[in-house]
Amino acid sequence: MKRVVLKRAASRLSESQKPRRNSRGNRNSQFRTHNSEFIIPDSYRVGIGSDLHRLAPGRQLILGGVKIPFDKGPVGHSDADALIHAICDALLGAATLGDIGRHFPDTSPGWHNASSLVFLRHVGKLLDEAGYKIVNIDSTVGLEKPKLAPHIPRMVKKIASALRLKPGQVSVKAKTGEGLGAVGRGEAVRADAVALVQEVKS
Ligand code: MG
Repeated sequence: MKRVVLKRAASRLSESQKPRRNSRGNRNSQFRTHNSEFIIPDSYRVGIGSDLHRLAPGRQLILGGVKIPFDKGPVGHSDADALIHAICDALLGAATLGDIGRHFPDTSPGWHNASSLVFLRHVGKLLDEAGYKIVNIDSTVGLEKPKLAPHIPRMVKKIASALRLKPGQVSVKAKTGEGLGAVGRGEAVRADAVALVQEVKS
């Protein structure tokens, strides 16, 4: 919708006011009107990721690379860190590099019980090689019990460190399922994430 509005605005501009290509050859959506200016660089891209894992007794609960004491944990081929899996998918999606299943198939014995921090470091490297820098990540974990708030600062630190980001670029939030659905019944952990990246390749 905004794009249509901007295109209409552009059609009313003189040649000197129309968007110009930047040094990388990308066209910035920059329009100057009588009383305002819009700048939307086309090099910014957003990605979304989500993950859900069943909880079972005898599994270690690991979220954001942090071990959390609890009597149940997520079932999966790796350590089943739903938060990191969702963040990996958000980053890969923003860079159109596929998804976590493509890069770390659960049929590979090499990833059995692997730390998902390994996946996250590798995803950061893939984005770097593809010419993207990460602007910020936001995420939400859905878990009925235990309370995650005391563990969030360590999760942020681990995620930021794996991606060579500042902690201020990573946000982790937590919600219960209000007793509803698989999360609310304490049967599953869910995570959702979005990532903003910027193309920096020349
Ligand atoms: Mg997963």
